[in-house]
Amino acid sequence: MVVVMKPTARQADIEKLVKEFEGQGLQVGITNGVDCTILGLVGDTTAVDLNKITTNEQVERVMRVSEPYKRANRKFHPEDTVVKVGSAAIGGGSFSVIAGPCSVESKDQITAVARDVKASGAAMLRGGAFKPRTSPYSFQGMGTPGLDLLLEAKAETGLPIVTELMSEKYCQLFEDKVDVIQIGARNMQNFDLLKEVGKLSKPVLLKRGLSNSYEEWIMSAEYIMSEGNENVILCERGVRTFETFTRNTLDVSAIPAVKRMSHLPVIVDPSHAAGMYWMVEPLALAAVAAGADGLIIEVHNDPQNAKCDGQQSLTPEKFDALMAKIRALLELTGRTLAQ
Ligand code: PEP
Ligand code: MN
Repeated sequence: MVVVMKPTARQADIEKLVKEFEGQGLQVGITNGVDCTILGLVGDTTAVDLNKITTNEQVERVMRVSEPYKRANRKFHPEDTVVKVGSAAIGGGSFSVIAGPCSVESKDQITAVARDVKASGAAMLRGGAFKPRTSPYSFQGMGTPGLDLLLEAKAETGLPIVTELMSEKYCQLFEDKVDVIQIGARNMQNFDLLKEVGKLSKPVLLKRGLSNSYEEWIMSAEYIMSEGNENVILCERGVRTFETFTRNTLDVSAIPAVKRMSHLPVIVDPSHAAGMYWMVEPLALAAVAAGADGLIIEVHNDPQNAKCDGQQSLTPEKFDALMAKIRALLELTGRTLAQ
């Protein structure tokens, strides 16, 4: 249920109402908008007396929220959420590009790529240290030494780091070292892991599962938010369809649809959607045109010898050329590139 207060409502009136709701066992999320304050009620609202609230003179409007997601719902929070990471921001008109290799392979590799993507205008560095691989015989990532190499690249370039967390046992390590915690497509419905990252203070980049609906994806964000961490960035990375030409099928519709359903920022990963380097640019530009709040792109300085996903990685030169086009398109659509 959403209670929209009148612009004239005083703080004391709002607090009194919040206390009443809390007394009924409800949790109350307070959003202070430009014009008014919105109270988002979470819990069993069936016993709430609608008449009593609508006759409160400080209340403008009351709406029941039928969707199962509450905190992530745009009705709870009409303005875009802006997730801040260092000096960069994602959402609310601020567009960020996250770039880097699929996985961290060596100090030379990650620092060289970090330098290049920074020079081209990326706001954050990506790189997996713990990799979710389909085969147990494939490279599994460098593990914790890989995290330390990401930190060295951050120290040199100043780029915040984005990397995937697969196990609850590393939550504290990630809380201490990482700037944005990625939850991969395969773990989108690992509810225990979602609850644990919900207790951390770092922003979470939540990828859409391989075959999940918008509602299921937003419900996973709700798991994180219900534990107190409201800094969730949603990432469309392509879904499974009957088409086998591409690795996945980029669902461009997800951008306007999910941004209408939720206030959370939506970014796009054209690399894992396409699975081929030459398709990354058109898909990235389509995402910008469709209103995405950012991109996460795989860039490798030696794609042919990459330990993971070389076929879909851009060279630093191709990434630089793409960034020029992204800038031009952002300018056309009235958004700014965060750096
Ligand atoms: C990745 O970003 O490297 C990755 C494994 O992505 P996804 O979870 O989308 O497959
Ligand atoms: Mn990858």
